[in-house]
Amino acid sequence: MIKFYNTIIRKKEDFKTINSNKVGLYTCGPTVYDYAHIGNFRAYMFEDLLRRFLEFSGYEVYHVMNITDIDDKTIKKANKEKIPLLEVTEKYTKFFHEDVQVLNILPAHNYPKATNYVEKMIELIKVLEDKGYAYKTRDGSVFFKISKYLDYGKLANLNPNSQKVGKRVENDEYEKEEARDFALWKARKVEDGTIYWNSPWGEGRPGWHLECSVMSMDLLGDHFDIHCGGVDNIFPHHENEIAQSCAANECKFVNYWLHNKHLLVDGQKMSKSLGNFYKIKDIINKGYSAESIRYTLISTHYRQELNFTFDKLKASQKAINRLRELKRRLAVVSNRSKGDITEKCEKMVIDFQQELSNDLNISGALGTLFTWANEIFRLLDLEKVSKSSALTAIDVISKIDSILGVVGFNTEVLSDDVELLIEERNKARQEKNWQKADNIRKELESLGIILDDTPGGTIWKKK
Ligand code: AMP
Ligand code: ZN
Repeated sequence: MIKFYNTIIRKKEDFKTINSNKVGLYTCGPTVYDYAHIGNFRAYMFEDLLRRFLEFSGYEVYHVMNITDIDDKTIKKANKEKIPLLEVTEKYTKFFHEDVQVLNILPAHNYPKATNYVEKMIELIKVLEDKGYAYKTRDGSVFFKISKYLDYGKLANLNPNSQKVGKRVENDEYEKEEARDFALWKARKVEDGTIYWNSPWGEGRPGWHLECSVMSMDLLGDHFDIHCGGVDNIFPHHENEIAQSCAANECKFVNYWLHNKHLLVDGQKMSKSLGNFYKIKDIINKGYSAESIRYTLISTHYRQELNFTFDKLKASQKAINRLRELKRRLAVVSNRSKGDITEKCEKMVIDFQQELSNDLNISGALGTLFTWANEIFRLLDLEKVSKSSALTAIDVISKIDSILGVVGFNTEVLSDDVELLIEERNKARQEKNWQKADNIRKELESLGIILDDTPGGTIWKKK
């Protein structure tokens, strides 16, 4: 049985789907006014791990990730740079998809954009208005009336007493009834320039929280299984999503709320002024591999803060290399070798899955994997792995990698020159020309390729 920590009840609970083996998954996506940073990708990577694990466990996941292309930041950027909103948002959406591909993240099945949903958002506001949950202010904005929605604050665990802000609050920007009420529709302001949409309440644009409610319900139904995001999304974003959706539909909105903690860099919050603000490309340009970024982002449990360092990337690369080396060693097991490791392989997969079933306990899962890998290395050294069970072990690595997504990265391509040298050395060894074989080994080493002569044959790895 899979268990997830559900933010709304603040404990782990058994995962039960609404509809047999189908899972509706909604994850808050990027605000496309700038490049996504490594912190954003911690969220997307946790969500990728979650999805891959659910699929591994036999679920059919329908994954929706929104693209926030209407909000204060996208509009501000377009106006500042004096270019159409669409030009800004398309540019950064394209970069986002490129990074998703580079990091081997499974693309969502649907990436709805707020700009394509304004009509539907207006419809939802009308429903809320009809039911008495929304009110218009003099400037033409529409607000959600929190005092009418009695369950407000359950997700963020807000104290109901401290929430009672009864008095009317005059606000510079809007005249809302209570300070905590949030905008469903924001009236057009001078600084919005020509970026606005028409509505029954006048010109303006939808509020950000409304966007996620409308897009998720349109594509996954009024009530769906899992909603994710970073912890910063819990309040007010997700709390407000619940209020709008439940008030409009009078039914439960989401069953499981999963939130990842933040990524820090060298123990500090990422910020441009500290110079520790990284995009994926920045890290790749420093010479680190995409798979090492991927491994680093998933290998700390999603509910723990992740302290990102370049040393962690190096350690991740080592871990990935070890699995790759194991695969290569298994591939060249000699026919003479005997010993059945099938049972060990099967047990490892079961244990790995069981660890992840416990709220994605990745440390436990990786511990299981590497204990197994060390044991298989030992048996390979002793020539105690039969050819057929070596093939089973290779399959098992691929199976595990359908969740981790790091071993099969196609980055380990040797140049033609190096391949030729390896071949030449193999020939020299067959001819028992040890001096020549040794010289070639040294030459390869200077090129960053280390050879390992195993009982089954010679394998290579990068330094
Ligand atoms: P945004 O583009 O700001 O709406 O954020 C997209 C996703 O990234 C949301 O799920 C955020 O919670 C998440 N996120 C933002 N900053 C970080 C961070 N430093 N660490 C982890 N997740 C983050
Ligand atoms: Zn959202």
